[in-house]
Amino acid sequence: MKYVDYERPINLKAALEILQNNGETTKILAGGTDILTKLRIRRELPDLLLDSKEIPELNELLYNPNSGLTVGGAVPLYKLYAHADVKKYYQAIVDSTKIIGGIPIQGRATLGGNLCNAAPSADAIPALIVLGATASIHNLNGSREVSISEFCTGPGSTILKNNEIVVSINIPAPKQNSGAHYMRFIPRNEMDIAVVGVGTSVKLNDEGSKFEDVQVSLASVAPTPLHVTSITDYLSGKEINDENIEKAGELAKDASKPISDMRGTAEYRQHLCTVLTKRSLKQSIERAKEN
Ligand SMILES: Cc1cc2nc3c(=O)[nH]c(=O)nc-3n(C[C@H](O)[C@H](O)[C@H](O)COP(=O)(O)OP(=O)(O)OC[C@H]3O[C@@H](n4cnc5c(N)ncnc54)[C@H](O)[C@@H]3O)c2cc1C
Repeated sequence: MKYVDYERPINLKAALEILQNNGETTKILAGGTDILTKLRIRRELPDLLLDSKEIPELNELLYNPNSGLTVGGAVPLYKLYAHADVKKYYQAIVDSTKIIGGIPIQGRATLGGNLCNAAPSADAIPALIVLGATASIHNLNGSREVSISEFCTGPGSTILKNNEIVVSINIPAPKQNSGAHYMRFIPRNEMDIAVVGVGTSVKLNDEGSKFEDVQVSLASVAPTPLHVTSITDYLSGKEINDENIEKAGELAKDASKPISDMRGTAEYRQHLCTVLTKRSLKQSIERAKEN
């Protein structure tokens, strides 16, 4: 058994100093639902766990009608999906976070942890991508804002450097006539990893007859969550009809690069890309018309 040190800094500066001096051998601990599992099977062997839960900036959960939603890196999922403004304005975030694990997991797990763990199957990431979210990343010398669609670089790897921490995830305020949705397929009703996950968002014209903007992102069909920009290019400005939605499903399938594993074959996953993209797009359109 490896001895692991534990630090629980109470301000951001102290956390960044630890990362600056010992980043290579430190892992950040938020809810611990991924990192503690990895420690147990010795996939991660840090010297130090830096607990982020007492850092005030990482506990912010704020909605501003102009700037949008700020979700601190240590905010647990149950607080996020129960927040009145999140329920009202960010339904895709509720869709995607309410299905992560079960209630005990959601009491600990965070949006920041789901993002930084960078699993290809991570349920929260496609919703963040289609909503145009960014991560606010800090180190001792400053900060940078990175689009979530550029954050993951491979299974379990990200653009984060050893001396950096995600302070918050920032999601723009929803536009008029817009709606978003996330769904996944799992063989069981809960507590399973997505065979395929699909996040969609749409912005419609005032008449509700045409797409002004469409974003689609897929989970579990490539080494990183996929942002399917071919659907954006194809559907923008087009009529909302079955033929165009059908084509979007085909484009999702074409963009996917799935593997076969115990949860499903590559062919099955590609079929699911088509079916789920169409279903999720229809849900986003419904929501856009209600908003
Ligand atoms: C039983 C079970 C069921 C699960 N079901 C699902 C599921 O259905 N869908 C799904 O997507 N996931 C699922 N998971 C995985 C996990 O619960 C989620 O990925 C969760 O959101 C991780 O958040 P956390 O706060 O626990 O992360 P942690 O385990 O604390 O951290 C995860 C990683 O992110 C890093 N990190 C955390 N915070 C920051 C930060 N602020 N800045 C930089 N790096 C940071 C950590 O160092 C670590 O590498 C499940 C896990 C379990 C144990």
